[in-house]
Amino acid sequence: MKIIAMLFFLTAGICQGQTYDSDFCETTMRIDYFHIGTKGREQITIDKIYREDQWPGSKVNMLDTLDLGDSYVNVSDLQTGRLMYSRGYSTLFAEWQTTDEAINGILKTCHETIRLPFPKRKVVVDFFRRDRFVAPNKKMGFSRIFSAVINPNDPTVVNTEKKYKAFTVRDVMLNGSPNRKVDILILGDGYAKDDMEKFRKDIKHFTEILFSFEPFKTHKKEFNVRAIEVISVESGIDMPDLNIWKNTALGTMYNTFGSARYILTEDNRTLRDIAGTAPYDFITILINDNRYGGGGIFNLFTTSFTKTAKPCYEWEMDYVYVHEFGHCFAGLGDEYYNSQISYIDFYPKGIEPWEPNVTRTNTKETLKWRDLVTDKIQIPTPWNKAEYDSIEALRGNLDRLAEDYYEKRESLMKKSKDILNNSSLAGKVGAFEGAGYTSNGMYRPAVNCIMFSLSLAGFDPVCAAAIEKMIAMYAN
Ligand SMILES: [Zn+2]
Repeated sequence: MKIIAMLFFLTAGICQGQTYDSDFCETTMRIDYFHIGTKGREQITIDKIYREDQWPGSKVNMLDTLDLGDSYVNVSDLQTGRLMYSRGYSTLFAEWQTTDEAINGILKTCHETIRLPFPKRKVVVDFFRRDRFVAPNKKMGFSRIFSAVINPNDPTVVNTEKKYKAFTVRDVMLNGSPNRKVDILILGDGYAKDDMEKFRKDIKHFTEILFSFEPFKTHKKEFNVRAIEVISVESGIDMPDLNIWKNTALGTMYNTFGSARYILTEDNRTLRDIAGTAPYDFITILINDNRYGGGGIFNLFTTSFTKTAKPCYEWEMDYVYVHEFGHCFAGLGDEYYNSQISYIDFYPKGIEPWEPNVTRTNTKETLKWRDLVTDKIQIPTPWNKAEYDSIEALRGNLDRLAEDYYEKRESLMKKSKDILNNSSLAGKVGAFEGAGYTSNGMYRPAVNCIMFSLSLAGFDPVCAAAIEKMIAMYAN
């Protein structure tokens, strides 16, 4: 473990003297693999390796020094051991490990992908996993769970067939070379042939919404946005709890991990085959269905619903799109703590979360966002938590099926919102108790943020700074 920790400290300087062109081709290597296991136990086996088109990532920032995600991949030169590329990311598998099923020892297999610039010589690919199950008060390190030597020049190893472009790729907003911009790729699921006009409108709408939020607004020119007009056989997506099953292109569904509103797809191979026909760094999937829902996993993809049966609640779709993008793009954690979730011990006691915007520490010296803390603010920062919690408790007790549910919910949400908006601490950075699905002992940076409340509140300064760091890594 000591060696691994050192690797991460040294990463910043390792590439000096080496250029992209001496190590890599212009194309992308896609490594598909199976991730198998249960709580506290996992294994990786390689599925297939592909050569895809143009490498869309940075050609300068090859090493990821942000230390985000539940997983990390390191790619090194086989001959010299020199680290050439690294990236942090999170997985559906790791989330699943915190559910009832995993805790009961059930085994699961997930299909996952990592992408890297196509190497010119033999490389070692090391897969690391953050140690979630270490003893309390130990800092989370990384364990290597799998290593593979890959010869990029062996035709029996790398599949180089040209993928058939099944769907039209559309340029939505182009600002420059993929190597120097953040490339967002928008896909759709549950859009049948007759829904494509709506898909085009949705692309435009959600792109405008994302770039109306800071810091995306200021950095708009550092992004490219493309879309693939993915056509599904049927309209809408699977809702297993209502026994609704739809034939869709990407296989997204509600009820992920037993949560009615959590939408993901486990059909990773299809998703990557389709996405790989356009340059991309980050994928968002628009869902042509009307039940509230979405999902977002760091460096994997986001989903969000795009129709609503409730008039005047269109803003909730905008909220979901931007909130989930925060998870996927910058590895932001959920700051809320009053909603029902399917995870058990998502943030184990005594272990500091890796997410930049949630913490277990509450002194100014130890806060990971100490550089952004507002002058003279008290840490931990007192706020109207008791009052807020009492209103949220009433909201939690409402009967969702009652006729006047939304009316009652609306008035309680307004009260909650007033507490947050009228707080004298609005916009200031401190350590506010209540974050990461945990009411006590976990802290968030600000009284309100789009990662905290179901509202169109902007990103707090700590989340905004995390987003800017990620933009800088890709747009260089
Ligand atoms: Zn969330």
